[in-house]
Amino acid sequence: MSVPFIDLKAQYARIQDDINAGIQGVLEHGKYIMGPEITELESQLAAFCGAKHAITCSNGTDALSLGLMAYDIGPGDAVFTTPFTFFATAEVIALAGATPVFVDIDPRTFNIDPVKLEEEVARIVTEGKLKPRGIIPVNLFGLAPDFDAIELVAKQYDLFVLEDTAQGFGGLYKGRISGSLGDVSSTSFFPAKPLGCYGDGGAVFTSNDELATKMRSIRVHGQGLDKYDNIRIGLNARMDTMQAAILMPKLAIFPEEIQLRQKVADSYTQALEGLVETPYVPDGYNSVWAQYSVLSDHREALQDALKEAGIPSVVYYRIPCHLSKAFEHLGYKEGDMPESEKASKRIFSLPMHPYVEGDFAEKVANVCRVALT
Ligand SMILES: *Cc1c(COP(=O)(O)O)cnc(C)c1O
Repeated sequence: MSVPFIDLKAQYARIQDDINAGIQGVLEHGKYIMGPEITELESQLAAFCGAKHAITCSNGTDALSLGLMAYDIGPGDAVFTTPFTFFATAEVIALAGATPVFVDIDPRTFNIDPVKLEEEVARIVTEGKLKPRGIIPVNLFGLAPDFDAIELVAKQYDLFVLEDTAQGFGGLYKGRISGSLGDVSSTSFFPAKPLGCYGDGGAVFTSNDELATKMRSIRVHGQGLDKYDNIRIGLNARMDTMQAAILMPKLAIFPEEIQLRQKVADSYTQALEGLVETPYVPDGYNSVWAQYSVLSDHREALQDALKEAGIPSVVYYRIPCHLSKAFEHLGYKEGDMPESEKASKRIFSLPMHPYVEGDFAEKVANVCRVALT
């Protein structure tokens, strides 16, 4: 008997009537592209995170691209980000023709280190080859990075902040809600994310009217007055109406699910004390626990023992972006980002979703205890 890493069926069982009715509604009106559910979801999302504008889109990767394209990022531009993230965060920078500049993480939060960020921006300025334009901080595993410190660097060097909150949407940072922490924020509704749809989906958020208008245009082939008036190069990056219908009942229970995730995280932290290094959440922060990730020098033995017991675990991320083959041409080498590299060798994530059973953390702890003796 094996348990799921993320249990989407348990959630569906809970809200299937609403989801089925939503899908049925779309089938009946037949507006599959940009139907009324899209606008409805967008106002709900904006209200949820406190951003003035929410713009739904095709996925979390295109959401990042919409942000970068709104800032006209291109060749010769430097965009700073963490190497300890899903590849897409850095990929979109290169896709826009710009250069990703990696900044190592704070080993306690796994998020971009603002002190190193300032050093790296200053270095790029002194070097004089690239123009520093923006920062993409990532809310890794559901926890926001230190936005106050990041914003200070952004102000000092006139950089934009594009919050990649594919894993952290709905989390709290000093009373602010993730999704409204950047000049632009992007998220993903990939099914496994804390708020996911039943396919690909994403959204961008901003309180800047001009950027919002530009991103709405880029979302549909750079449209001007209408679809056949093209005023800039854009994308086909719309969300399907069906996914919007599916997301609304999920958003309705999302606040409660965040609390359930917190309970699961608390039970893990309590049960795993002394067995592995458990996650650190600074005061004034609330994670949405996209992943519950622990550190151990005995990762392989623990993962093997868990697997034997029918408990899946996953390594996020085995290869930090600066060492990925795709970025070979940037010239980074082993040792350049010591904290990210250390984490990538010791980290693994445990099953995490709102419907993990009450005694599950104890089961995991028992397996780990035996494996470590
Ligand atoms: C999932 C993810 C993305 C990409 O989202 P997709 O919807 O899969 O395109 C981007 N950044 C981070 C940090 C992610 O976890």
